[in-house]
Amino acid sequence: MARYTGPVCRLCRRERMKLYLKGAKCDSMKCPIEKRPYPPGQHGRGRVRETEYLLQLREKQKARRIYGVLEKQFRITFKEAARREGKTGDNLLVLLETRLDNVVFRSGFAASRSQARQFIRHGHIQVNGKRVDIPSYQLKKGDQISLTQRAKEMIVVRHSLEVVDHTPPMWIDVSKNDAKLTISELPIREQIDIPVREQLIVELYSK
Ligand code: SF4
Repeated sequence: MARYTGPVCRLCRRERMKLYLKGAKCDSMKCPIEKRPYPPGQHGRGRVRETEYLLQLREKQKARRIYGVLEKQFRITFKEAARREGKTGDNLLVLLETRLDNVVFRSGFAASRSQARQFIRHGHIQVNGKRVDIPSYQLKKGDQISLTQRAKEMIVVRHSLEVVDHTPPMWIDVSKNDAKLTISELPIREQIDIPVREQLIVELYSK
């Protein structure tokens, strides 16, 4: 599986905002964006001409980075969103939001999406009773996700479930005691709280 292996905090600095990619560090004073809230590199603090294309590109990169999706897969997801009925931008966000790695993170089982991806890759996550090791697996309404017994005993998982105060979104029913969750509804745009203007992404890919 191809994945981004470069410095993660640099991605937040490039987008000039916290993308919450590193779990607990993001809420601490160690977050580099607190000290250096400007893009990385020698010309990070220089003036940039904000063209329409640049704004569109930045929105697309931001969405990609928040969900941890590489360009090729993002494009495939966009094509699927455009093929479906309804607004392409809304469909795109719903498809990204209902990826298995995102749902495991949103429900509080993992501290970040990258940690959720690791749990899935290592075979700790079951969907409707069967092991699924594909982080981009698309969930449907009614799907039940659970942790394996081994995962429930892992210290990082117990910390996420028992110590971290995390409120899951309305469309996921979480039972922390059983380490299980159910997709009660597919999310609508208003329930997806990511700071992305999806219309700009649609405009970028429609050129
Ligand atoms: Fe982004 Fe988290 Fe790194 Fe801060 S600590 S720059 S929010 S990934």
